[in-house]
Amino acid sequence: MTKNVYCFSEGNSEMKGLLGGKGANLAEMTRLGLPVPDGFTITTEACMSYLNNNRDFTVELQEEIQKNIKDLEHRSGKYLSDPQNMMLLSVRSGSKFSMPGMMDTVLNLGLNDENVVYLAEVTQDESFAYDCYRRLLQMFGDVVYGIDSSHFENFLEFYKRKNRVKLDSELTASQLKEIVHEYKRIYLEIKKQAFPQNPQEQLLAAVEAVFSSWNNERANIYRKLHHIADDLGTAVNIQLMVFGNSGENSGTGVAFTRNPSTGENKLFGEYLINAQGEDVVAGIRTPSPISELKTSMPEIYDQFFEMSEILEKHYRDMQDIEFTIENKKLYLLQTRNGKRTAHAAFKIAVDLVSEGLNTKEEAILSLDPHSVNQLLHPVFVAEGLKKAELISTVGLPASPGSATGRICFDAASAKEWTDRGEKVVLVRQETSPEDIGGMIVSEAIVTSRGGMTSHAAVVARGMGTCCVAGCSELDIDEFLKIIKYPKGTLNEGDVISVDGTSGDLYVGEVALELSEKNADFETIMSWAKEFSRLDVRMNAETKADIKTGMAFNASGIGLVRTEHMFFAPERLIEMRRFILADNQEIRNKSLQTILAYQIEDFKTIFETIAGQSTVIRLLDPPLHEFVPSKESELKKIAQEMNVDFMYLKQRVNELHEINPMLGHRGCRLAVTYPELYIMQAEAIIRSVISLKQEKNVDVAPEIMIPLVGMDGELSLLKEKIEEHIKHIIETEKCDVSFTIGTMIELPRACLIADDLAKEADFFSFGTNDLTQMTFGFSRDDAAKYINQYLAEGILPVDPFQTIDVSGVGELIKIAVEKTRQVKPSMKIGVCGELGGDPHSIEFFDQLGLDYVSCSPYRVPVAYLAAAQSGIRMKK
Ligand code: PEP
Ligand code: MG
Repeated sequence: MTKNVYCFSEGNSEMKGLLGGKGANLAEMTRLGLPVPDGFTITTEACMSYLNNNRDFTVELQEEIQKNIKDLEHRSGKYLSDPQNMMLLSVRSGSKFSMPGMMDTVLNLGLNDENVVYLAEVTQDESFAYDCYRRLLQMFGDVVYGIDSSHFENFLEFYKRKNRVKLDSELTASQLKEIVHEYKRIYLEIKKQAFPQNPQEQLLAAVEAVFSSWNNERANIYRKLHHIADDLGTAVNIQLMVFGNSGENSGTGVAFTRNPSTGENKLFGEYLINAQGEDVVAGIRTPSPISELKTSMPEIYDQFFEMSEILEKHYRDMQDIEFTIENKKLYLLQTRNGKRTAHAAFKIAVDLVSEGLNTKEEAILSLDPHSVNQLLHPVFVAEGLKKAELISTVGLPASPGSATGRICFDAASAKEWTDRGEKVVLVRQETSPEDIGGMIVSEAIVTSRGGMTSHAAVVARGMGTCCVAGCSELDIDEFLKIIKYPKGTLNEGDVISVDGTSGDLYVGEVALELSEKNADFETIMSWAKEFSRLDVRMNAETKADIKTGMAFNASGIGLVRTEHMFFAPERLIEMRRFILADNQEIRNKSLQTILAYQIEDFKTIFETIAGQSTVIRLLDPPLHEFVPSKESELKKIAQEMNVDFMYLKQRVNELHEINPMLGHRGCRLAVTYPELYIMQAEAIIRSVISLKQEKNVDVAPEIMIPLVGMDGELSLLKEKIEEHIKHIIETEKCDVSFTIGTMIELPRACLIADDLAKEADFFSFGTNDLTQMTFGFSRDDAAKYINQYLAEGILPVDPFQTIDVSGVGELIKIAVEKTRQVKPSMKIGVCGELGGDPHSIEFFDQLGLDYVSCSPYRVPVAYLAAAQSGIRMKK
């Protein structure tokens, strides 16, 4: 027969799956001999079998509970049905993973109209007895009968106001009796059912309610949000009550063994005298800091301090402990690993290693890689956020950090405003390469369309600028310069605050505080590098970005997007000349000018990265991105370039494509205009030669051809590039090592990876395009419906943010296997956004890839994730 109930002395902290986190830790504390009120736990399995069998509360389970109640009565000498020596219980839910705010709790269970009188007598405290009863009525009504707490709270507020009472603890016994009377009436009015007087009946109903709470709406939402499985179930903990509300020698509190915001190794917490559980959290009375307990109840403080040390040493982590004092006796009601800020997390992880409690591996595994973001960017002051008015919470946290500025709707105004010394936030439906100038000067970027790999998101992350993308609640009229959002409107110049780490937007200015890199961060990162098998490179092309990535110890550059170098005005005009030319001669002339610029660009990159591996991707986007679509701007360009406007317009129309993402881009451009790639290859090689000659810096560039889907594309272009390079090397008489590889970003490329491998020196998976092409989701538009897909459970995660293992992942796996058959040790990396995502990194590590590459600010996140994966794989 399955065992459904474990008394605390039978369990331990390893049994979280079966007993839930709370139950397992109560059992563990009992084993450690700490003062835990006696009790037992009904398993999560019992909960799941109840829920899976049409809520069948089997006789066997009921009997097992009864037997455990009898045993508890026997051990405690108190009885559920004996009013003169009554046993009161607390009933609390607790699943494997802590789900704050999802908890259902019923305290003082067992009380009724009859025994409350005895409780008053025995304790000689009538107001205590009726205070317990009114609390039971409210909690039981809420948890078991689904009577909204507000019915009880509203009445309590009304009653206190009417009788000029400020605090709950000031209510007299007769007042509490009146409240109890009214609460019982609320049961009849709302539930059409009286409060059950029989303690046994109360208990069984409470157990069923806690089981059922696993499937309530807020629990479901919470699980979805935190990727907690639906079939874990919740345990039910039944425990003898201890009373923090039984007078001035009693109280209740919560404490952390270290400071959860700074990590300082000092007890941190608060408590309330003469109060029960929920009062501390409810915020009705202001609790006192735990340090005051030292003076008010020194013995209790010393005991608690000693116990907190025992627990922290035992769990080898900072603990969050709930306690209650009943008539000067201390009880522990819960312990768990405490939640903490990123700052505290890094400090505690390093401290626990130096205190000899943890190994470096354990320290690395204890950290959330995403939390690194909090450490590296300014964050809003928590107090300020609480007071700020929300605009929206539905945007995607596209690039971490927090910033405040005035709204501008286009790049030109953003520049104008910043020239005047204003800080701006660029708000657009979506951004395009033409906006780059405005994006650079903005404190933050907000878009109403586009996903995590949209232009705005990728560019912002690259620049380390905070960005909220795809905020569909914003109705942005760029022409009228107005934003409508659910609760109001905003105009150009209005100040907003943008939280790129959460995706939230606020009206007005919220104060910022800097969270700088610190010694603990450096220590953790050096350990992370030690444990990660994968190399981490950066996607970067500007000097500033490369320096950022190097400060995070990136091992080279995994992707230089060369098109980003074409948008400075003097280059753009040459590029436009090239695109709009009607003969080869003009095209060649423009390319010669661009060549000179590109040589300088590459020299800067190679010099900055100091000879580390660098992948340069040849031009990728469709040509139309380099010419404007608006007539007014076309007219300006026609004048600047001294060409006929109608001719220009016609040429732009010719470039127009219905599906540019599936269009004339990537290597397809070079099949038509090989001179483009030849010019870029020449620039790369010439820059290497001149660096070698001028500064004695040796570089072996990795030249990457994008969007290859057929081996013929690769062989054709590779041949042309190699031939040209050979010619340069011969004429310059300077030997240069270089490799030519390709991006794998089309499903077809994955399937013919063995053929491509015969031609290529290296591969890099472009997972942005590969995801787009595999799902057939436009990476710039999918944000509009992906949320719905997530809400409906059609997709478990946004595949642009975290690898879709069974589709995109399978393609990558096939490609890697095929490649390894042809060239077992060919270098393979990832340079799409997934290269900075912890879950995806673990997947790439398992496939045995050589490196991941991501925006500079994600390099530490990636190192930490790679180290965790490395440690887990060794286990
Ligand atoms: C990709 O497609 O994953 C990639 C890195 O290239 P881009 O984002 O520039 O298309
Ligand atoms: Mg791509």
